[in-house]
Amino acid sequence: MNCKIDYQAPAGLLKERIVLVTGAGDGIGRAAALAFARHGATVILLGRTLAKLETVYDQIEAEGLPQPAIFPLNFEGATLKDYHDMAETLDKEFGRLDGLLHNAGLLGNITPFVQYDPALWEQVMQVNINGPTWMTQALMPLLEASKDASVVFTSSGVGRKGRAYWGAYSVSKYATEGFMEVLADEVEHLGNIRVNSLNPGATRTRMRANAYPGEDPEALLTPEAIMPTYLWLLGPDSRGHNGERFDAQPPR
Ligand code: NAP
Repeated sequence: MNCKIDYQAPAGLLKERIVLVTGAGDGIGRAAALAFARHGATVILLGRTLAKLETVYDQIEAEGLPQPAIFPLNFEGATLKDYHDMAETLDKEFGRLDGLLHNAGLLGNITPFVQYDPALWEQVMQVNINGPTWMTQALMPLLEASKDASVVFTSSGVGRKGRAYWGAYSVSKYATEGFMEVLADEVEHLGNIRVNSLNPGATRTRMRANAYPGEDPEALLTPEAIMPTYLWLLGPDSRGHNGERFDAQPPR
């Protein structure tokens, strides 16, 4: 297992790095955005609910951390033009991207495949893999402009071993792992971009509670507790690791 839960991130680990986090308004993405800002990064908060992004923005400002930016975007309706407009704005504002955490995700339904609603299946694939794929394509020039860029795709246990009833979510996470490997292999020769996947493991969030309504949330690690592997992957200590699968916590 590839897990850095014991990693002790130094205070200025992400100083002067520009890091984009998708799904930054809630759950793991929110914790990651705050952790990155607390370690010196300028964080671009991307998500679909503006009010949640503003709350994270305000918290970062209140702590006197590097001023973040907000980018409202819904992967369900976003077009190629939206991704290219976003890249243009980021290019003007920052000129490069040093980190990209693909974290936004949709659970869909946990139901037998024969009963799976095709429209919901499409929606899950759109949010979990298709949207992030085209966003990544648009952002490649900004990643290439970085001296040391880290792209992290959020996976899941069911993206590494299929499980009954997990339908589109599981399939989208397999696709995520596949895309991570393809992209990692393509950028290997560049030397300045690494691309890896990270499975958070069972974590106390709204998504987990929806998937396991009978579970005691207190028995789960919080998003804050799994941040060491996120920090390690976004910072310079993970240089040289490309195309690998990581776990944010040991198996339960
Ligand atoms: P969460 O609390 O439900 O957060 C998901 C985030 O994704 C939210 O910020 C949400 O925005 C955003 N999002 C959803 N649909 C979106 C869309 N159409 N466009 C833009 N943003 C969208 O879930 P989480 O547990 O933190 O999950 C984070 C990642 O970890 C996901 O990729 C998930 O698959 C993965 N994961 C989680 C666990 C776990 O146990 N929690 C385990 C394995 C993998 P809103 O808040 O505005 O809805």
